[in-house]
Amino acid sequence: MLNDYKCLVCDQVEEHWSAQKENKCTFCGGLSKRIISGGNFSLPGIDTGFPTAADKWARRHRKANKPNLKKLGIPC
Ligand SMILES: [Zn+2]
Repeated sequence: MLNDYKCLVCDQVEEHWSAQKENKCTFCGGLSKRIISGGNFSLPGIDTGFPTAADKWARRHRKANKPNLKKLGIPC
């Protein structure tokens, strides 16, 4: 599982695929402790594997604007 670890030495926060409570800071080599976040929350659009609504919108928008962009001489 992906966890956040905060280094006790340099305060660097890193993500590691590990279930351990402690990890080695890849920045300074110090000890970093797992940050306990308040439960599992999912970030939309990151772990789903299919394009987000924003992505779809941008693609459709660009497509719709293609004639206009051509007219303006912008390559697309
Ligand atoms: Zn560190």
